[in-house]
Amino acid sequence: MKLILLGPPGAGKGTQAKMLMDRFGIPQISTGDILRAAVKEGTPMGVKAKSHMDAGGLVPDEVVVGIVRERLQKSDCVKGFILDGFPRTLPQADALNESLVELGKDLDAVVSLEVDVEALVERLTGRRTCRDCGRGYHIKFDPPAVEGKCDVCAGVLFQRDDDQEETIRRRLDVYNDQTSPLVAYYRDADVLVVIDGMQEMKVVQDQILKSLQAD
Ligand code: ADP
Ligand code: AMP
Repeated sequence: MKLILLGPPGAGKGTQAKMLMDRFGIPQISTGDILRAAVKEGTPMGVKAKSHMDAGGLVPDEVVVGIVRERLQKSDCVKGFILDGFPRTLPQADALNESLVELGKDLDAVVSLEVDVEALVERLTGRRTCRDCGRGYHIKFDPPAVEGKCDVCAGVLFQRDDDQEETIRRRLDVYNDQTSPLVAYYRDADVLVVIDGMQEMKVVQDQILKSLQAD
């Protein structure tokens, strides 16, 4: 299964990607996660990316295109992959097409999750992530059993620096300007599946699986 999860920040891409990863035994490729790891390690790529990420802008296309091109060549992508947060611009989508042609792979679907702006802000301001295992939570919609502590590994939960309201609004503007044209792009390519992402996580999950005829 070769999928793209498309949607604004907070739409539930990471949440649904983890479910699909378990269901199909294929990796989640989150450019945001890869970039955050590079920033933490202080690699040259991380240093280059940090200012863009802190400001809520996009990291230059050539950087993320390079990350994904390399990642898709790894052996765990043979059965498929879930792209989460990539592509985010038309040049990135064109570059992905080129990589897929080179690799002899076709996309099965691009799942677009639709969520209202105010719901996105509420989701992102309440998002928490485990520092150790990366499991995502929400203080209201998916709280841990013990506040601040991961249910799975007891790791400490943290809030992302860019999940502050001002940066969130900037990221949503960037989505509207630069990423939302990809909905029409993939509709024209006849691979788009639109899902109402306002529904509960489990309902969204069932509808994605149904649309992939895999429930
Ligand atoms: P994205 O990867 O698209 O930025 P996430 O999957 O990280 O979004 O979800 C953002 C926040 O919203 C997380 O705290 C997550 O727990 C919560 N969330 C995800 N899906 C839903 C949903 N269907 N309803 C309510 N909250 C959700
Ligand atoms: P995310 O984890 O998907 O919310 O991404 C966090 C941040 O990483 C974004 O706000 C961007 O600064 C950067 N980023 C992630 N993916 C991309 C991408 N495909 N293109 C450009 N920047 C990206």
